[in-house]
Amino acid sequence: MKPERVLTFRDQIILFWGKVRRFYYHTCRPDYIARNHLRRRGECTRCGICCLMGSTCLHYSEDGDGQALCLRHPVRPRNCRIFPVDEADLRDRDILAPDTPCGYSFIPIGEPLTPEPAAPEPAAAELAAAEPVAPELAPSASASFESEATESEKLAVSD
Ligand code: SF4
Ligand code: SF4
Repeated sequence: MKPERVLTFRDQIILFWGKVRRFYYHTCRPDYIARNHLRRRGECTRCGICCLMGSTCLHYSEDGDGQALCLRHPVRPRNCRIFPVDEADLRDRDILAPDTPCGYSFIPIGEPLTPEPAAPEPAAAELAAAEPVAPELAPSASASFESEATESEKLAVSD
């Protein structure tokens, strides 16, 4: 889907900082990701907004139904796999699509966790449930990216 609003310079700074923040989390604070993913509920609806945060990812595509499709889903970066890490990520994401929420939400800190298990894979993971539209566009030997993925993050999309 298309962003629902045009980004201001301030918005772009916020979204860029979000990328830095998520990078810090998966490189230095995997415990923070794991804790927050326990609070996370819902599933990715493949809106694709987290792939458009700041700029449109080169690997972003859409299927015939207009749903987001990651052309390199199996080897997408960690930043994509862990999205959304927390409420701040959702707030950033909502800058682009305030009227179309992400499929994920978080149980507020301090509230009891519902029985529903946290999604095993980070958000945007669902983006590539389908075959890439143009597999040839995906880096053939980009296993390096996939190898970055750890089960501790198990999760989403943005880059
Ligand atoms: S994780 Fe990304 S693609 Fe999935 S619903 Fe949320 S914003 Fe949309
Ligand atoms: S999941 Fe990541 S690599 Fe794939 S299209 Fe979205 S931003 Fe790009």
